[in-house]
Amino acid sequence: MLTSYAQKNNENSRLKNAWRKHVVVASRCSADVTIEGKTYCHFASNDYLNISQHPAVKHAFKQAVDVYGLGSGSSPLVSGYYQSQRDFEESFADFVQRDKALFFNSGYHANLSVFQTLTNRHGAIFSDKYCHASLLDGIQLSRARHIRYPHHDMDSLEERLKKEVDTEAIVVTESIFSMHGDVSDLTRLSVVCKENNAFLCLDDAHGLGVLGESGRGACEYFGLSPQDVPCLIHPLGKAFGGMGAMVSGSHTLIDALVQQSRTYRYSTMLPPAIAAASLAVLEVLRSESWRRDVLHQNIALFNQLANEYGIPLCSYDLTPIRSVVVGSNDHALGVYHKLLAKNYFVSCIRPPTVPENTARLRISLCSEHSEDNIRALMQDLAITYHESIRS
Ligand SMILES: *Cc1c(COP(=O)(O)O)cnc(C)c1O
Repeated sequence: MLTSYAQKNNENSRLKNAWRKHVVVASRCSADVTIEGKTYCHFASNDYLNISQHPAVKHAFKQAVDVYGLGSGSSPLVSGYYQSQRDFEESFADFVQRDKALFFNSGYHANLSVFQTLTNRHGAIFSDKYCHASLLDGIQLSRARHIRYPHHDMDSLEERLKKEVDTEAIVVTESIFSMHGDVSDLTRLSVVCKENNAFLCLDDAHGLGVLGESGRGACEYFGLSPQDVPCLIHPLGKAFGGMGAMVSGSHTLIDALVQQSRTYRYSTMLPPAIAAASLAVLEVLRSESWRRDVLHQNIALFNQLANEYGIPLCSYDLTPIRSVVVGSNDHALGVYHKLLAKNYFVSCIRPPTVPENTARLRISLCSEHSEDNIRALMQDLAITYHESIRS
C-alpha cells in the first residue's frame, strides 16, 4: 500500500538510475570496510581522522555506559541533561574559543532550529547555492525570505544585501562544501557581513578537526573572531568521529537556543555516554596533531596524482573531500562499480544531491590511508575514468 504520489516518485527514481540502496557494513577497521563478506579499502567515510576507532574514545564510551546506561531518558530541559553533557559543552566552547556551546542531537536538528530561533517571516536569509539540505530545511522552517546567491559569489551577495538595508539579514554558508570539497573565502565573507549588518552563521561540519593549526576549524584557519562569525554550527559526525552537533557563540545566542529551539526542547537527548566519549575526542584532537598532518599529506598526494593522471577535480583545495565529476548517472555508476570490483569503496553522488548531469565520485581521504592505498586507487581510477569519458 502506498500513495500514488510516492509510487510515482519511486518509479521516477528507478527510471533515472537514481535509486538508492543501503550498503550493509559488517565491520570497519583502520582504512578497511567489510561489506557482504568482502573487504574494501574505504574511501567513503567522513571519519577523516579515524577518531571513531580511537582506543581512548572507545574506553571513555564504555566506562560512561557503565555509569549512565543507554538512553538519557528525556529531553534536555526535563531530565535528559547530564553532567557529561555540561562538561563536554564547556570544553568544546573553550576549544572553539566561544563563550558557550550547546549540544544538539544532530547537525540536522541544529540546522532546523538555529534559523527559527534567530528570525521569522520579517527577516531575510542569504545562503550559498550549494548549502546542505539541512540548512535549506531550517531556513524554510523559519519562514524568512530566502535568497540563494551563486556559489562563492561574494559580489552578488554584497549587491543583494545592499538592497535589504531595512531587513534584519542572516547569511549562512559552509566552510568546506560537502559535495565539492572547496573552501569558502570566509575572510571576505565576514567583512561583507559586518559592512552590511548581516549576522553570519557558519556550518563548519567538515572543517572541525581538519582546518587550522590545532584542528579548531575554519575560524582558526582564517583567524576569525567571535565578532566575525557570531554563530558556529559543528555537526560532530565527520572528523570528530561521533554524533550530535554543537552550536557555539555568545551567552545570549545560547540562551536564545535553550529557550526557543524546538528540536532541542522536544527531542530526547543523546545518550550521556556520547557526551563522555566526545570529551575524549577533544583530548585526542588536542594531543594527536599527527593525524591531521598525515591527512594533509594524503590530500596533497591525491591532488598531485589527479594532476598526473589528468583527472579533473571539483576543487584542488586541501580538504579530505575529493570529488570527480563524471556526468550522467549511468556513467558515474559504471565507474563506481568498476572501482568496487577492484576493492575500493567510494561514494557515488547523484541528483538531487548534486545538479543534474554532474553525478560524481566523492572520494574521502583519511589519516589511516597509506601512500600505497592512494597510489593504487588513483591508478585504477585513471583507467576507469578515462574509459568512461571516452564512451
Ligand atoms: C553532515 C552535515 C550536516 C548534518 O549533520 P548530521 O549530524 O549528520 O545530521 C549538516 N551540515 C553539513 C554541511 C554536513 O556536512
